[in-house]
Formats: sequence, C-alpha cells, structure tokens
Amino acid sequence: MSDEKKEQYYYPNKWSRVVLTSAEEIMGDKGVTALLNMAGKPELIDNYPPDNMKKEFSFEDFSQLQQAMWDMYGKRGARVFATRAGEQSFKDGVSQFRSVASAAQVAMKVGTLEGKIKLGLEFFQKFFNTVSDQVVEVKEDDKHWMWIIKRCPICWGRKSDEPVCYLAVGVLQGALGWVAEGKKFRIMPVECIAKGDPAGVIKIEKVPVE
Ligand SMILES: [Zn+2]
Repeated sequence: MSDEKKEQYYYPNKWSRVVLTSAEEIMGDKGVTALLNMAGKPELIDNYPPDNMKKEFSFEDFSQLQQAMWDMYGKRGARVFATRAGEQSFKDGVSQFRSVASAAQVAMKVGTLEGKIKLGLEFFQKFFNTVSDQVVEVKEDDKHWMWIIKRCPICWGRKSDEPVCYLAVGVLQGALGWVAEGKKFRIMPVECIAKGDPAGVIKIEKVPVE
C-alpha cells in the first residue's frame, strides 16, 4: 500500500441508492443480495445508502457493483440488466427531482425535436457535473449526439475489451424517452475508459428509429 494520497471521487448517495432500488425491481431482493455479496459489499444488504444528495458513495464502490452484475449475469445478461437499471434509475430520478425535471421541461418547451434533445442533453450534463464527481461533455456531428464521459463511475478501475457503460446507455434511453415521448433512438456505446480509451463515448443517432 502506498501512502500517496489518491484523489477520491464520489456519487451522491441517492443515485447509488436508486441504482440498487431499481436493480431490485428487475432482479428481486434476492438478486440484489447476491449482487452485493458478489461485489464484496455485504454491509449494504438491507442498508442502502441514505436518500440524500451527499457525495459519499465512492466511484470504486459504484463500479464494483457494476462489475458484480457482469460476474453474475455474464456479458449479455449484464448489458440488458445495466441498461434497464439505468432507464429505471432515470425514471425514479425524475420522479424524485420534480423541481429539476420541471425546469428542464420549461427549457425544452419550444423548438424542434432536435433542439429539444440538444437542450435536454445539455441540461442533464450540467446536472450530472454539478451534483456528482462524474464529468460529462456533450458534442455532436451531423448524424449523432455524443455523450462523452470523461470521468466515469461506471467503469472506474475496470478493464474490458469492449464498452461496459450500459448503465449510462439506459439512463440516456430514459432521458430521451422523457424528452421525446414516443420516440426511440439508437444509442451505442462506442468508446470506454475500461478498454483504454481516453473517455467514454456514447453515440446517439439524431434521427429516431421509430
Ligand atoms: Zn465508463
């Protein structure tokens, strides 16, 4: 162990809690208990992080929960679960952050679908960057929006030969479904810090598939 001081990054308690409660809806409380054991976090069984916005849940712990999902369900299952958990987290988040949600809705009231999505993504990016140590940037080209995660709690310290940040894919899926009701977009994780890229990049096709 080195005594060199490592910088620690944190997610708000509430968000880690939402990830666990939404995982419960998907895999049941037995599933979450198994997940927490697998992640080496038995102290969280029936003892989820408190429902507040204090930045106390470390990126290390957060990514270990994600890794445990991989260990339990394999690559394919974990992708599906992580995406669903992300989508559910967004929904639960919106219902808990009514003031933020309605501010976003006011901002998005006018304009084209494309304009709304741009505003929505920028809004969520600012929100993420403000209340957590996650760092996100939004860029675009002709055909895509790019959600760029420069400091990522999902794959913190993980190694993989392909993108693993499907929780973020799910969150974006939830966010876009909320911004553009009834529309579906193709959302693809293309780069990931876990596979050695400088940042995580999730591409969203601007033209909806339905
Ligand atoms: Zn990542």
